Amino acid sequence: MKLAARVEQVPQSVTLAISAKAKAMKAEGLDVLNFSVGEPDFDTPPHIVAAAQKALDEGKTRYGPAAGEPKLRELIARTLTEEVGVNYSAENIIVTNGGKHSLYSLMMATIEPGDEVIIPSPYWLSYPEMVKLASGTPVIVPTDASTEYKITPELLREAITPKTKLFVLNSPSNPTGMVYTPDEIRALAEVVVESGIYVVSDEIYSKILYEGAQHLSIAAAKPGSDKQTLISSGFAKSFAMTGWRLGYLAGDKTIIGAMTRIQSHSTSNVCTFSQYGAIAALEGSLDCVEEMRLAFAKRREVMYELLSAVPGIQCVKPYGAFYMYVNIGKTHLGSVDFCSALLEEKQMAAVPGKAFGTDDHIRLSYATDLKTIETGVKRLEEFVASKL
Ligand SMILES: *Cc1c(COP(=O)(O)O)cnc(C)c1O
Repeated sequence: MKLAARVEQVPQSVTLAISAKAKAMKAEGLDVLNFSVGEPDFDTPPHIVAAAQKALDEGKTRYGPAAGEPKLRELIARTLTEEVGVNYSAENIIVTNGGKHSLYSLMMATIEPGDEVIIPSPYWLSYPEMVKLASGTPVIVPTDASTEYKITPELLREAITPKTKLFVLNSPSNPTGMVYTPDEIRALAEVVVESGIYVVSDEIYSKILYEGAQHLSIAAAKPGSDKQTLISSGFAKSFAMTGWRLGYLAGDKTIIGAMTRIQSHSTSNVCTFSQYGAIAALEGSLDCVEEMRLAFAKRREVMYELLSAVPGIQCVKPYGAFYMYVNIGKTHLGSVDFCSALLEEKQMAAVPGKAFGTDDHIRLSYATDLKTIETGVKRLEEFVASKL
């Protein structure tokens, strides 16, 4: 069968081959250190699991409303109103199958052929692919360590054309771990409001911050910026709920309505009893989130100190999420070759920066234990030394 042309535009994930190989090596009994994971290594907190179990026992096993359980939409709206500082009501919220799906649905609801979507690189790997699947044109704006991998207001202004529909902002960032300061967010909001474009703000790591870093949502950065902002977030990263598939989008009612229509004909609703887990997450104490954050904070300290001492590579200190983005340019290896050889020769799995739009970097996740971090950085040091 001839496949749809849209599939041709979306390449196989460059990370797939490496993670498959890492799994195979592990199955052979090799001691593989995995720095490639994009999820917390903790179990979902027990009170959240218990709430979903209770929902199952109570027969919350049927179809629900396409936009989400009313109680959950209400709670998300209330939480965002408090945390973001902008008023949201339930009609401004759609519950989706993860933050990934909220972004995808948004693209499907808003992007037409010819529409441009501005994406700063390094970017989370799915953004450009989603835009292409929606028949839009990704406009990649490269950034580097000199601006801590952040887009500046000047760069954003230069990238805007009459065809620009959306700007994708991700802070804290996957893959770089960078966090835009409140002043930087305000300066970007200025450009957004002045130009009239929309911004989708992927804030899935907003609770995973270190050393006094502050998260300001662009929705709250300037009077009027909320009207042009769509916040995408979810429960996966902060509550260790990746497999539950729970995300949401917050913003303009008309857009939420359009996404609900699409959802009603595609996914119907997010798993009903999963949503009761999310309700418990929002109603319960955030101590569990803080405990995980503190564990990440310790690992970040240790890993950053060790990595900074490795000759031949550079890394900017991250202030959020759980990744370090490492420049491997001095080895003159492409990131895919680098990661394949690192896995082959040192049994260490990392993600090639090529997946994020920068082929002279690799991403290391520190969602792993301290011993793995210590051994891993040693192996990386030996590996890099052999390639210089
Ligand atoms: C993990 C992640 C998401 C969404 O994850 P879901 O599991 O779909 O909720 C969205 N954006 C970024 C940058 C991520 O790292």
